[in-house]
Amino acid sequence: MADIIDIDAAVIGAGPAGLMAAEQLAAVGARVVIFDGMGALARKFLLAGRGGLNLTHSEPLPKFLKRYGAAEARLTPAIDAFGPGALRRWADDLGQPTFVGSSGRVFPTAMKASPLLRAWLRRLDAQGVQLGLRHRWHGWDSAGRLVFATPDGERSVAARATVLALGGASWPRLGSDGGWVDVLTAKGVDVSALKPANCGFGVAWSALFADKYQGTPLKNVALAFAEQRVRGEVIITAAGLEGGAIYALSARLRDAVLSDGEARLSIALRPDLDVAALTARLSKPKAKQSMSTYLRKAAGLSPAGIGLLQEAARQDGVALAKLAPDALAALINAVPVRLTSVAPIARAISSAGGIALDEIGDDYMLRKLPGVFVAGEMIDWEAPTGGYLLTACFATAVAAGQGAARWISGAPHQSV
Ligand SMILES: Cc1cc2nc3c(=O)[nH]c(=O)nc-3n(C[C@H](O)[C@H](O)[C@H](O)COP(=O)(O)OP(=O)(O)OC[C@H]3O[C@@H](n4cnc5c(N)ncnc54)[C@H](O)[C@@H]3O)c2cc1C
Repeated sequence: MADIIDIDAAVIGAGPAGLMAAEQLAAVGARVVIFDGMGALARKFLLAGRGGLNLTHSEPLPKFLKRYGAAEARLTPAIDAFGPGALRRWADDLGQPTFVGSSGRVFPTAMKASPLLRAWLRRLDAQGVQLGLRHRWHGWDSAGRLVFATPDGERSVAARATVLALGGASWPRLGSDGGWVDVLTAKGVDVSALKPANCGFGVAWSALFADKYQGTPLKNVALAFAEQRVRGEVIITAAGLEGGAIYALSARLRDAVLSDGEARLSIALRPDLDVAALTARLSKPKAKQSMSTYLRKAAGLSPAGIGLLQEAARQDGVALAKLAPDALAALINAVPVRLTSVAPIARAISSAGGIALDEIGDDYMLRKLPGVFVAGEMIDWEAPTGGYLLTACFATAVAAGQGAARWISGAPHQSV
């Protein structure tokens, strides 16, 4: 016989979105339990902390909002209500002040997630929020109660409102595995397939190149695809490319690879030099230098940059030594790289796809499931790295938590 508990609100998913939704509910006195399938909470948030925990970005709000692409209009009210400024004040209130890094990104001064998480959990505990770990949600029973698998068997929970904050499907070993997709689809909720976002790509490197350069960064390069151009760093892997600059282009690259089977990325190895300046440098006599030494000295290329250039030339059947200086200069600043696959979602920073925006009312309640609210990465929006992911998770969670609180209080909830 399943153990049944009766509460005001169940928040399922103890990542940043779930914790923030619970905080909103507890603030109005609701009896809240946060459930999570894992034995520890906020594991992905803690992992994000290893990179310094880029909470948000300091750029002007109109520019910030553009980062959400097709979801911009839908996310704007939530981010207007709880955006970068509010998020920084919230962290400050937890005793975790933030600073703006040189790139405009915002980090807690502690540069990690654990102190912030500890302070946050203390506050939630003081608000009376309870935790149900090792509770894996797998749907509703015929009486509309939430059903969880736990180490002690099945457990049913009757809640007046539910907030689902179950994340996407990247890094599934940290808890978010997209298992909820089938549950919601079976209820008639439209969910777009979860796809990798901020992810790496596969390239059919020669064994020689992969062996020699895997793990090596290409620093200060510029990547171009379609009309997008990004400066930064990429890392050569055995199977392709990873790293910040390619993540920034990954939405467009992914869509191209998935629809056309490949995407042609262009890499400028010396983006600070134009082709004329490079041509002048490469017009100096090569004398008896090897091609590698010449490229290193005349064009200032790194060994991995030279390797990439040679790899591209080999694939196109071109001999670098036979190229005229202007053709060589043009190649150095537009090395073609054929991306033929998208790295698996399990290794992506985040997920695209998720609950279709049309399924969600203004208060973040699912139109087809009254009393069920949704927040965070499980919703169909995507954004580059730079703090935009966590900001949208927090903002949608504030909206969903407050929507759930209104629902519980019997106040008319908003709906469009
Ligand atoms: C390596 C890495 C670095 C990152 N760095 C940053 C960064 O610096 N800045 C930034 O903005 N973003 C960053 N992100 C992304 C950010 O961490 C996520 O966007 C964010 O954690 C999503 O929050 P969420 O609450 O929606 O989901 P999650 O954090 O994924 O939490 C979902 C929770 O739901 C639980 N769950 C899932 N299914 C079930 C179920 N059926 N039953 C019960 N529980 C379930 C999971 O166990 C999990 O605890 C990073 C991600 C990665 C992988």
